[in-house]
Amino acid sequence: ISLSDPVELHRICVCVRKRPLNKQEVARKEIDVVSIPGKGILLLHEPKQKVDLTKYLENQVFHFDYSFDETATNELVYRFSAKPLVQTIFEGGMATCFAYGQTGSGKTHTMGGDFSGKNQNSSKGIYSLAAQDLFLLLKQKRYSSMGLEPYVSFFEIYNGKVFDLLNKKAKLRVLEDGKQQVQVVGLQEVYVSGVEDVIKMIDVGSACRTSGQTFANANSSRSHAVLQIILRRGNKLHGKFSLVDLAGNERGPDVSSNDRQTLVETGEINCSLLALKIAMISPGMGSCDYTLNTLRYADRYLLH
Ligand code: ADP
Ligand code: MG
Repeated sequence: ISLSDPVELHRICVCVRKRPLNKQEVARKEIDVVSIPGKGILLLHEPKQKVDLTKYLENQVFHFDYSFDETATNELVYRFSAKPLVQTIFEGGMATCFAYGQTGSGKTHTMGGDFSGKNQNSSKGIYSLAAQDLFLLLKQKRYSSMGLEPYVSFFEIYNGKVFDLLNKKAKLRVLEDGKQQVQVVGLQEVYVSGVEDVIKMIDVGSACRTSGQTFANANSSRSHAVLQIILRRGNKLHGKFSLVDLAGNERGPDVSSNDRQTLVETGEINCSLLALKIAMISPGMGSCDYTLNTLRYADRYLLH
């Protein structure tokens, strides 16, 4: 995204990130079916079978604004996706960055980092990288005189209900105001004075997310987590950046059974995702169907 061109700020940028095969996949001798031959291009080698049962791989090509292979760091992904959006909120804009993909494909690794930013030397995620740039920009001459104050909020959406992760998972109401803006009523906004404060809030929220878990299956893969970085000028909202770690996009494991809970969750997740395009993928052949599903959905040529 070029920041010099204001039109560019209003269009959707779609990136895809391939994670490396993990230890288990390597142990299972999973074949890597995804390759990234060039900028924005992704090839998926789909396993097929001829009528005589000979197996072969069929290449499918997908196009994105950016495609990142397994060697890409969180910093690199951040630089080409979320980084320009931090500036957007200083200009008074609203921005959103979504991580979309199958459970285990790397959404939380990308957004939260591997230790949710706790260890400064560990892989930092987009949350803390964005927080770093937020405070760098606040100190810059052109913005420091504007009287902008940074806040964060952190909430979870599960089955269409909203829970405040910075306030003991309090259940919140969502209303549309007179200007057709969606408002989460009573959502805590915590003032942050530095990157450390943001990281602390991410830790508080992440702990709240997992400790309040009462479901047999990992609730976190069935819920969306939304971290918001908010700039205020006095009481007035100036800009807001929402960073969304989405629920897994795979179908629930028991779709065929009478597991109503899973069906409701899957319905809610798919319904709320129809409007979005962003993507993470797993490279293993065992995930090929899910990967194709994600790619078909996110391929940016389908947007036009
Ligand atoms: P999701 O949030 O999409 O369910 P995670 O982010 O939890 O997936 O990733 C699943 C596992 O894979 C985690 O152990 C994570 O550390 C690892 N992982 C994901 N992406 C990468 C990557 N790009 N490099 C190394 N490990 C990764
Ligand atoms: Mg996750």
